[in-house]
Amino acid sequence: MNRCFCLIFLLITAPLAHADLRVFACEPEWEALAVEIGGHLVKANSATHALQDPHYIQARPSLIARLRRADLLVCSGSNMEIGWLPQLLSKANNPRVRPGNIGYFEASTFVQRLDIPDSVDRAKGDMHPQGNPHVQANPHNILIIAQALAERMALLDPANADLYRQRGTDFLERWRKAIVAWEERAGALRGKRVVVHHKSWVYLQDWLGLVEVATLEPVPGVPPTANHLGELLRMLGEEGDGAEYIIRAPYQSNKASIWLSERTGISAFLLPLTVGGSNGATNLFSLFDDILDRLLGTES
Ligand SMILES: [Zn+2]
Repeated sequence: MNRCFCLIFLLITAPLAHADLRVFACEPEWEALAVEIGGHLVKANSATHALQDPHYIQARPSLIARLRRADLLVCSGSNMEIGWLPQLLSKANNPRVRPGNIGYFEASTFVQRLDIPDSVDRAKGDMHPQGNPHVQANPHNILIIAQALAERMALLDPANADLYRQRGTDFLERWRKAIVAWEERAGALRGKRVVVHHKSWVYLQDWLGLVEVATLEPVPGVPPTANHLGELLRMLGEEGDGAEYIIRAPYQSNKASIWLSERTGISAFLLPLTVGGSNGATNLFSLFDDILDRLLGTES
């Protein structure tokens, strides 16, 4: 084995020599989860914020620089970031966080993905070819991902492994209690019919028993068209009894929501899809508090 290869191998596998585990998160929910588990041991930043569509961002030089220094990348995966992450990874040229290495963590691969298509017709614009990547909208998924993330951090930073595991266990305990409280509150939502802008909410729907009757996008990633909205108006009826809510994420245009709401009387509003998506959603716990407050009409 030549010396050069040995050195690269050591650089990839050696325990961290510095204090902080540098986490490059693709979305704010994974930044928040990394901090819940890693606390003062990690330095985490998200490449996107809650008012940006995580499917589309610019591969800015500052992100390349941040990725170059990262020890751990935590992203939703399942093609969510296909439009920008491969380019960032290539430019950052950081073997620690390349797919296949332990510094590469794709959250959606740890949970059961929904909406895995039988066949993908990219010509129709389908942007969820590996199943739906918006897995954070079900807190049970966060539970599974948190366990895997604590283990991954322990592996990457063995000197602090016990601390990651302890903090992970503490988080899981608080999170399980929170789920019980959320589920007690959410019973009234079961069976409610919803129209959604993009298929951002399939895991929330699955969790709460909401029934998706339509999407404003004709297929995931294609903006609402006049034809499609006209069809929805016919389907939902001018009395508006076809659904209870029209929901969208903060970064989605409210135009189509409002158009349909005005003609059907169905109430349209936004739900935070991640931490920072509303004034109330300041951390992972208050994110779900706020989602339920808005759906139940109890937000202050
Ligand atoms: Zn999507």
